[in-house]
Amino acid sequence: MKKVVRFLAVVMAMALMLTFVGCSGQTPAPTDATTTAKPVTNPTTTVNEGQVQTTTLGSDTTTAQQVAGITTTASAQKTTTQVKTTMPDNLKITTTAKKTEKPAATKNPMLTTVPKGTASKDKLVALSFDDGPSIQTTNLVLDKLEKYNVVATFMLIGQNVHSGTQAVMKRTLDLGCELGNHSYTHRRMGAMSAAEIREEIEDTQDVIERYAGVTPTTFRPPFIDVSQTMYNNIPLTFICGIGANDWDNNVSAKQRADMIINNVKDGDIILLHDFAGNSLTVEALDTIIPTLKNQGYKFVTVSDLFKLKAVERKKNTMYTNVK
Ligand SMILES: [Zn+2]
Repeated sequence: MKKVVRFLAVVMAMALMLTFVGCSGQTPAPTDATTTAKPVTNPTTTVNEGQVQTTTLGSDTTTAQQVAGITTTASAQKTTTQVKTTMPDNLKITTTAKKTEKPAATKNPMLTTVPKGTASKDKLVALSFDDGPSIQTTNLVLDKLEKYNVVATFMLIGQNVHSGTQAVMKRTLDLGCELGNHSYTHRRMGAMSAAEIREEIEDTQDVIERYAGVTPTTFRPPFIDVSQTMYNNIPLTFICGIGANDWDNNVSAKQRADMIINNVKDGDIILLHDFAGNSLTVEALDTIIPTLKNQGYKFVTVSDLFKLKAVERKKNTMYTNVK
């Protein structure tokens, strides 16, 4: 019995450690965004960013209760499954293997559609910011983007989209940036019904269309909490990204910058936050952007990343890397 307890403790500790990696850069609800977020709130993000570029089914149903409880082993198994999931790199292989045709399609639905066009050889990266718009922080982020002449994608919480934030959204679009959907209320959606999910998404689409005049095509699940019901009911491209734990005030601007710079690779989406008061991320941009530019990266929006890499957006997939 003691062995079992010890094993569970070890697995739980591993699960906690893994939540620090990658997509765990999700904030709590915007109202308490500046408080310290415990990574345990984000157990579905045990994807190792360095290895898994897209996450297909199976990453969706682990909940905080499961991590805290007896089903931790199942969680660990799911993580293993995720590592085996199809990566976009395989798409490239099929473009040169004409003989495969139908067999490949039946074996792996991810390979059914090979993107047309030629993928850019450029090193591309897509900066993205969650939880805005915030009049203060989003404008400071836009100042940095303007300073370095780069673009980004802003994943908006519907509740924050209104006449008061209309000007900052206009400025965002004027600078060539993209707007995405980050739910209406920023609650965990993994256990929601289809009707609740559709309401979260459609309300956000509606309000962004009304106040910004554009229709988002990308979606980032709050806390990267996803379910098959979400995949079935949200007709948008699911994105995650390389994170920097930048919702945690104890993580310095330098640490945030280092985490991004040390992990980023061609085709990556970078996941940061522009919620009110997140000045350390604004500060980190002064390191992240010039450093990556010096390394030859070009900054593009998430939608342009798909276009330029000639990658067709798939259902049942969450993208951190696009190529
Ligand atoms: Zn968020």
